[in-house]
Amino acid sequence: MSSVTIRFLGTSAARAIPRWGCDCPQCTAALTDPRARRSRSAILINDTVLVDAGPDIYAQLYAVPYEILAHIDHIIITHPHADHYLGLDDLASLRRLSELPVLPIYAMDDGWERIEEAFRYLIAAEVSQYDRRPFARRPVQVGQTLALPHGLSITFLDTHHTRPFTTAGLLIERGGKRVFYAPDFEEVDDDSVAGADLLILDGAFFSRDQMHQRYQPILEEGQGRHRPILESMEWATRVGAQRVLFTHIGHLGLAPDSLRALLYPGCDLACDGMVVTL
Ligand SMILES: [Zn+2]
Ligand SMILES: [Zn+2]
Ligand SMILES: [Zn+2]
Repeated sequence: MSSVTIRFLGTSAARAIPRWGCDCPQCTAALTDPRARRSRSAILINDTVLVDAGPDIYAQLYAVPYEILAHIDHIIITHPHADHYLGLDDLASLRRLSELPVLPIYAMDDGWERIEEAFRYLIAAEVSQYDRRPFARRPVQVGQTLALPHGLSITFLDTHHTRPFTTAGLLIERGGKRVFYAPDFEEVDDDSVAGADLLILDGAFFSRDQMHQRYQPILEEGQGRHRPILESMEWATRVGAQRVLFTHIGHLGLAPDSLRALLYPGCDLACDGMVVTL
């Protein structure tokens, strides 16, 4: 019996691939090969926990077998940047399929102000029979663990991606398997993920040089820090991870095969629709 299944709904950074009007090898490949296209990052864990709901979430869930949608019973928003939460309105109709009267949304305590600014009409702070809003607010803290049905547990870690709010990385554990999912990632305490079976990490930039060419090196409010792929591969080796998949892939200018050729053994790229089972 498998322990943890990750279904990749989307694997791009803040903007989807291909980029309009760009003829770089990455965008050219995506125009001709659907497997090279990337929509905004989101996953399903064991087909029950949805992590993130960006602007592509309706089409992403439409591509999933219909019967799976009825089993989604928890929603996690890693952080309130546009590519991770702006699709919440499209998720509201999930409640029609679910057996739950209200779907719980888990997000870090300090991110709720921004989420509610946009979606207060969808999210109830307290669940009551008179409140017809589809979602319930569930604030969580760094270090908190959700114990979910069937022995699945999810611990919220701080990935130090941005401010003024915390970005969650998720340590997903079941049946002795440990997976760390951090689409927006700068760093995390090494001990918390040491020896993980799978790290799913931020692929927004390949090297720090590339990041500085394309992006302000100074972190301004609301901007994010992203540890480049090259440094994450070194770090993954140091913490003894068995395997690494990169998601949240940025505009790197390389066709997927050229990018894969630069990766260390045990490292690969996720792609939209990929299902990984441990
Ligand atoms: Zn992001
Ligand atoms: Zn391009
Ligand atoms: Zn972000």
